[in-house]
Amino acid sequence: MITDELLRALPKSDLHCHLDGSLRLESLIEMARERSIKLPSDTPEGMRELVFKETYRDLPEYLHGFAFTCAVLIDAEALERAAYELGQDCLAEGVCYLEVRFAPQLHVRPGLNVSDVLKAIDKGLDRARREHERSEAVTERGQPPFRYGLITCAMRNFSAGFSPYYRGLIEALGSHWPMKDVYGIASQTLVREVIEARDRLGIPVVGFDLAGAEAGHPASDHKRAYDYAHRHFLKKTVHAGEAYGPESIFQAITLLHADRVGHGTHLFRLDLVRADDPVRYVRQLAEYIADRRITLEVCITSNLQTLPELRRVEDHPLGRMIDERLSVTLCTDNRLVSSTTVSRELRLAVDAFKLQPSHLRNLVLHGFKRSFYAGSYRDKRNYVRQIIDYYDKVAAAHDLPPVRRGDPV
Ligand SMILES: [Zn+2]
Repeated sequence: MITDELLRALPKSDLHCHLDGSLRLESLIEMARERSIKLPSDTPEGMRELVFKETYRDLPEYLHGFAFTCAVLIDAEALERAAYELGQDCLAEGVCYLEVRFAPQLHVRPGLNVSDVLKAIDKGLDRARREHERSEAVTERGQPPFRYGLITCAMRNFSAGFSPYYRGLIEALGSHWPMKDVYGIASQTLVREVIEARDRLGIPVVGFDLAGAEAGHPASDHKRAYDYAHRHFLKKTVHAGEAYGPESIFQAITLLHADRVGHGTHLFRLDLVRADDPVRYVRQLAEYIADRRITLEVCITSNLQTLPELRRVEDHPLGRMIDERLSVTLCTDNRLVSSTTVSRELRLAVDAFKLQPSHLRNLVLHGFKRSFYAGSYRDKRNYVRQIIDYYDKVAAAHDLPPVRRGDPV
């Protein structure tokens, strides 16, 4: 029996978690008050009724909440606090490996540059890490230590209202250049700055991501930035196949050298393929992704909230992804906006797809194995070994039969 207690106790990772979508609601309200920022309500209940709902009408309604979270994440103190609390919330449900992502250029202000943003977030997570290391959970009960990395997001598109940085860029370049070139320039500037911060300041920037509206804003606009990341050994993930078809996933993994794909929900959508033989195309693409171990960061609740065609968890392609032996890991996307946790995502998947203990073990361990771990490869191997041993210990303590050769995978 896969119980809720077991799912909470297992060591877990979250490889796809947006900082600005994962604030504590109480902290958002408090930080807004301190900064004289007006929210639609000043109580958690009011905000849940008006902004952060269980279900959303459409994508714009889902995205509405980010306007408020980004409005408070405008100084180092707010960023550090949000990161620290996120680290604590992860640890409270057994998520001991976190890759947090954010678009630094959304937070940049006079007096707060990209490396200040990175430093503040690193500082908050490092505090959570150190506190956990000293806690009884680690020293007495043998829980694994907390490890984390930062993923910086470039935006496929933006407008002047997104942030002062983007407004300045549009004012300086928008009348001379097509907007797609302005998006590309922003991502090239960002990638240089974050690699500089990694190499000169030792900040654990582990990945580069591309977020924003997929339709109408192709990955090709960002090829130069991704080439630069690739040449400097920064790992890459891309939000793809969330709003657009399998060919967008292909572009992410070939043109942008993506090591992982954010969502990949539309991987099997034949109706969205433009190639001559959609069935063959999708089969070959899925085989390629499986064989290269390109990991899909699947966020079930978030997909259900933004894709109207997914009415129930059972409609989600996760079951087929597992059947096709793809490397898949479950993530939250946005802990606040999607009202979810990694344990909850696992619960949904186990129930909807009748997952066996061997499936669960793979789902969880893929997240650690395919992480963009900040330390050396040797350290990563040791950490993953520690996680596997701890996983098996927790599973045995909850009477889960050990995984054997020949079990479904
Ligand atoms: Zn995302």
